[in-house]
Amino acid sequence: MTDLHRLTIRELSEGLQQAQFSSRELTEHYLKRIAKIDTKVKSYVTVTAEQALAEADAADAVLKAGNASVLAGIPLAHKDIFCTKGIKTTAGSKILDNFISPYDATVVAKAKAAGLVTLGKVNMDEFAMGSTSESSYFGATGNPWALDHVPGGSSGGSAAAVAADLAPIATGTDTGGSIRQPASFCGLTGLKPTYGRVSRFGMIAYASSLDQGGPMARSAEDCAYLMNVIAGHDAKDSTSINKEVDDYVANLNATSVKGLRIGIPKQYFNVSGLDAEVKARVEESLKKLEEMGASLVEIDLNMTEAYVPTYYLIAPAEASSNLSRFDGVRYGYRCENPVDLMDLYKRSRSEGFGAEVQRRILIGTYALSAGYYDAYYVKAQKVRRLIQQDFLKAFENVDVIAAPSAPTTAYKIGANLSPTEMYLGDIYTLAVNLAGLPAINAPVGFDQESLPVGLQLIGNYWSESQLLSIVHQYQQNTDWHTKRASVAEETA
Ligand code: GLN
Repeated sequence: MTDLHRLTIRELSEGLQQAQFSSRELTEHYLKRIAKIDTKVKSYVTVTAEQALAEADAADAVLKAGNASVLAGIPLAHKDIFCTKGIKTTAGSKILDNFISPYDATVVAKAKAAGLVTLGKVNMDEFAMGSTSESSYFGATGNPWALDHVPGGSSGGSAAAVAADLAPIATGTDTGGSIRQPASFCGLTGLKPTYGRVSRFGMIAYASSLDQGGPMARSAEDCAYLMNVIAGHDAKDSTSINKEVDDYVANLNATSVKGLRIGIPKQYFNVSGLDAEVKARVEESLKKLEEMGASLVEIDLNMTEAYVPTYYLIAPAEASSNLSRFDGVRYGYRCENPVDLMDLYKRSRSEGFGAEVQRRILIGTYALSAGYYDAYYVKAQKVRRLIQQDFLKAFENVDVIAAPSAPTTAYKIGANLSPTEMYLGDIYTLAVNLAGLPAINAPVGFDQESLPVGLQLIGNYWSESQLLSIVHQYQQNTDWHTKRASVAEETA
């Protein structure tokens, strides 16, 4: 079969279970595509071909025995922020260029236990700080829809790999938009779960109170299959919540779009940087949902102006603390010929971290320092609570809230936005992480340059099933999620 990469997760599962093809054939098919097409896209940092084939053979044995789980034998790619035993985990940084984790992240272990086959580790912004994946030590990744454009970030490698059909599904992480924005830029569906739904154990920390892993795929249905594997309580992550996990696949049609109240925040659609075509596509998608029976309700989210400054204090503060462990002593990059301990620390960190990471460590350390802690960090925490309350108030009147995922489509590689320009691009995604809410991106069309546009739906706590279900039904009535970039149409 030459078009195995066109199959959905459900079709792949059925094909494997019915022995229409083997996991080895499927895995070889993807490895061949990666070898040829990823020379252009550059989504993978590490391809684990040998191990993938061994995992595929093991899955085939279980499939043959007739007791394989639903996803057994299906390949996936992991964002290079999830620790993988025996395989390099870099977080896109020079400081971890030589790091091989002695254990698997819980998300990775769960994927393995479900029989999924790891194709490799995919590119990302250094330590997940960024919106373009260009801050990776391993270089930029191309957007499959226009290779001279970025795939977004920080999970840009995950998005590019799936959009180019170099993996059927991928894991991503979202601290301030890093699943939703690259999904938007690459025309994919991506879900950021409620904080605590997916274990953070073994996921290299950026900002611990905001970080959350989730699935990136073509459709809500494909995301639901991966969510069924990775969601759940984990005793190794004290912030993971012990709450029953939904069957996201079984619930794909459980939410009624008829009668659904969708909140439209006034403040979101008047943002000055909102591209007219993004706005138009998002409004068209909302009209479609209206046709399907939903009602649109104008709401207020009065704290909108506070999102960017609040996030860009709290996230760097937590990062400055989390990243203090990279000191050149225990693991990771170490500078050459240090003259004393202070020199070792200073040069290992100055040489090992890139510019954006250093900027955030500086900002965060400043915000946490004795003289400024109350004025910046404590104040930001108070504003964070107000942002959360804003959402809780809105959810008294609406079921979900709609927004663009990003104010623009993908930037050109090398556009060299100033830090503040780049941070403003996160306007629609940050509040969800500050409040700990779930949100999903769905592809809803293209701009004049044929670059994808994404709709974001934000739900109340634990509404992952509802969000996946709404997008699934939208996708039953539209075909944006089935469109493929020309590089994905290439054969290996
Ligand atoms: N773009 C945001 C940032 O640079 C979000 C990143 C993320 O979600 N990891 O912090």
